[in-house]
Amino acid sequence: MSDKKERKLTKREQRRKEIFIEKCRSMEEEGYKTENLFFSILQANFVGLLITLPINFLFLAVHYLFNDFVPNGSYSPYIGLIFIALMLLLIVVHELIHGITWGHFAAEGRKSIEFGVIWQALTPYCTCSSPLTKGEYIKGALMPTIVLGFIPGIIAAITGWVPLLILSQLMILAGAGDVLIVARLLLHRPKKAKVVYLDHPTECGLVAFVKKND
Ligand SMILES: [Zn+2]
Repeated sequence: MSDKKERKLTKREQRRKEIFIEKCRSMEEEGYKTENLFFSILQANFVGLLITLPINFLFLAVHYLFNDFVPNGSYSPYIGLIFIALMLLLIVVHELIHGITWGHFAAEGRKSIEFGVIWQALTPYCTCSSPLTKGEYIKGALMPTIVLGFIPGIIAAITGWVPLLILSQLMILAGAGDVLIVARLLLHRPKKAKVVYLDHPTECGLVAFVKKND
């Protein structure tokens, strides 16, 4: 009988798990202690959204500070379909931006970066198998939201182009999980210690390797 709680790992996940265990072992040999920074499904879905919505409102407020509420111009009747196609494309681009940024910082470069899709949740993901400093991890986590959410939001406010505003709003929402991780990292401040962070291969979240300075 299979245990329903244990999700069956794919071959790639199994291999990633082995690399992860090996990395943990070598870090512990170097004197690091491992701390789990995991999220429950509730936290990931709800708290992430709760932190992200004020950012959405901020960009909305800035937009309507400079623009009318009534959108000008006429839009194609296919705008809905165009939007859905564009969103699917941008979700892939979002993951690519994670990969490029983290790959730039990772000791093993692009080789550390892996992309995949959790088909049950139709969620694409990007994962980095090299430990990163807090600043590096945060830059890689926020970059897709900056490039696809914040910058289009600013351009939309300047031009008054509503489709771009909607797109930027949706892309900010798409980064809710990343904003949650960044918030968690900012709250993780062990005193007088060297810390690096590593994606967990199967859990929702990451681990911190903490070495106390003596
Ligand atoms: Zn992301």
